Amino acid sequence: MSDRWSEVVGRCPCGKGSVVEHVTESDHPWIMNHLRSRNTVLECSICSKEWHLSGSEFVQIASEREVERIRQEKMAMELELQNIATDTVNAFFEIHSYPSMKAEWEALRKFGLYHGSLRTYRNRRRGRRPIPSLLSACWNIPWIAKNCLPAQRTRRDWILKRIEHLSAEEREAGKLIVRQPFLRSLNS
Ligand SMILES: [Zn+2]
Repeated sequence: MSDRWSEVVGRCPCGKGSVVEHVTESDHPWIMNHLRSRNTVLECSICSKEWHLSGSEFVQIASEREVERIRQEKMAMELELQNIATDTVNAFFEIHSYPSMKAEWEALRKFGLYHGSLRTYRNRRRGRRPIPSLLSACWNIPWIAKNCLPAQRTRRDWILKRIEHLSAEEREAGKLIVRQPFLRSLNS
């Protein structure tokens, strides 16, 4: 069984429209509580183009674009760093061949690249899955910095500086985001 209803919970920024909460409630016979999900929507043809509702605030969409752009660039940079890390690990294990999975696992743990148990490592490595695909994000592990291919080192250093710069820019851009409190008022 599930119930749905909607109620107006406040006014939009321009005052002509409203904020509506759509509620879905499901009853489960085997648990005491019902599951309730709420979806709060800004219903104003003017304001919904300019604002979005985030928790108890309206956020001006246009003022967020700069932060969004910076985040996209940061993500692209981090992806490139991760690709460099993958190349580094691949190159290393091509040159140094370890006699067993256990020896491989010990080396990876020593390098700070892998933290799981030997058993998990063995299971995941079966089927000759490439080593980098078993590691989580490892671009900032010191071992990568030390063993990175000379051809990629300059690029890696540049990206790290760029990310630092972007983070500072992101903080500044974050201060320029325009917010307006959303005052929830029942039966408005
Ligand atoms: Zn409005």
